[in-house]
Amino acid sequence: MRIAIAGCLHESNTFVGFWTDRRCFEQGSLCWGDDLLVEWATAHHEIAGFLDVVLAAGAEPVPVGMAWATPGGPVTDTFFEYFCDRLCDTLRRVQPEGLLLALHGAMVTPRYASADTELLARVREAVDIPIAVTLDFHANVTPEMADYADILIAYQTYPHVDQRLCGQRAARLLLAARHEGRQHHTIIVKPPLFIPLLAQETEYPPMRELINLARRLEQRPGILAASVVAGFPYADVPEMGAAVMVVGDGDRASTAAAAEELAVALWERRHRLHVPLCTIPEAVTRAQQSSRLPVVLVDLGDNVGGGSAGDGTALLHELLRQHVRGWIAVFYAPEAVVAAQQAGLGRAVSVRIGGTDPRQGPPLDIQGTVRVLHDGRWEEPDPRHGGRRFYQQGPTAVLQLENDNLLVINSMRTPPFSLGQLTSLGIEPHRYRILVVKAAVAYKAAYAHLAGEIIPVDTPGPTAAQPQCWPQHFPYQRIRRPLFPLDPTATW
Ligand SMILES: [Zn+2]
Repeated sequence: MRIAIAGCLHESNTFVGFWTDRRCFEQGSLCWGDDLLVEWATAHHEIAGFLDVVLAAGAEPVPVGMAWATPGGPVTDTFFEYFCDRLCDTLRRVQPEGLLLALHGAMVTPRYASADTELLARVREAVDIPIAVTLDFHANVTPEMADYADILIAYQTYPHVDQRLCGQRAARLLLAARHEGRQHHTIIVKPPLFIPLLAQETEYPPMRELINLARRLEQRPGILAASVVAGFPYADVPEMGAAVMVVGDGDRASTAAAAEELAVALWERRHRLHVPLCTIPEAVTRAQQSSRLPVVLVDLGDNVGGGSAGDGTALLHELLRQHVRGWIAVFYAPEAVVAAQQAGLGRAVSVRIGGTDPRQGPPLDIQGTVRVLHDGRWEEPDPRHGGRRFYQQGPTAVLQLENDNLLVINSMRTPPFSLGQLTSLGIEPHRYRILVVKAAVAYKAAYAHLAGEIIPVDTPGPTAAQPQCWPQHFPYQRIRRPLFPLDPTATW
């Protein structure tokens, strides 16, 4: 039995001022055929999970294609059409007996508010075979996805450390469907709410309670998988928000009842899906006074993994204003890297950083000494959010600043998902007082064991932690209304 394996993953933030084009995918991962195995077969990713199960079952995996880019602005229609055409052409030619497809679920293009749904529709049109789809926990699920895929399941952790397991589950369900000739169906329910990112963390209630309920529902006869999908708030699309998805192979009414129960449990917890934040001055003062080191300052408004530019200066301005000692920060600053390369190791350099998005603070002029120059590549052996093994942040420099501070500047926007981002440069993060991460929750898979104290900071930007509190940053026009918590009195 030949099972096709493919993926296309992008989380599109519609509030940033740049596009995600083919070059962004080439920098991330864009591969066809067996090249897909080189990049992904040993990663902690759903693609590797697909392969684990297909190979163990004695079936033949047919790697088709994979596209992955760092979260950012919407994907261009040009790239989307290219990828869909090549994917569908290959599937038509190969004629597999099943398809395992890894999607993110929050990909937007100018033409398609849910590009994942459009891709699925085209795949379904191209090949009439069982299709199992894995989705990111941040998918903005559309009800139509269930029309095109037989099986839909999502990661159940945030940080996402179960991606490979999720791929394995999807593959097992697909193979069972093939072997036993059973007809699977997925029921999707979407209560009218979105969940701010910090409240989506699955280690803590109320999300933990919901994930546990999903596992209990899976014990019922005929219920094969139940997923809570937290959704991605930084997209102005009709289906922005949370969802539940339940896969069954019994009667549809039983599957629908389980989905309804999970959705009601989510809705009933909506007032608890909220995490308090510090203002920028409060956070920096508290970090200075902390004895639990290192302190991780979480720059929520410039969450690179949520699509932000990675060069917001709002928090850095305050660290400098308060003359804080012993911090490390990573900035996307390709021109500054070139300046550091030209100055050379051990030399003084003046660089300008920031300013891509004026909402996130004015540019900053920084003087430092070039301590490290690096190609920006490293390997991460452990399960980390995003499931990657091979990382690259582009040519990178480390600048030693006054007050024992370190500034890492890179040439490719790279979220802090792996400590290798620092350790590959010879930096020992535990020796510093303050680690600035441009993130929300995902970084914790790499940093939590190291952190003495974590302080989420309410910085401005296109990934501000609570969009309902920053209407000037999030002029939603296409979302469903009413939608909690933007509309606190929304009913369901
Ligand atoms: Zn995600």
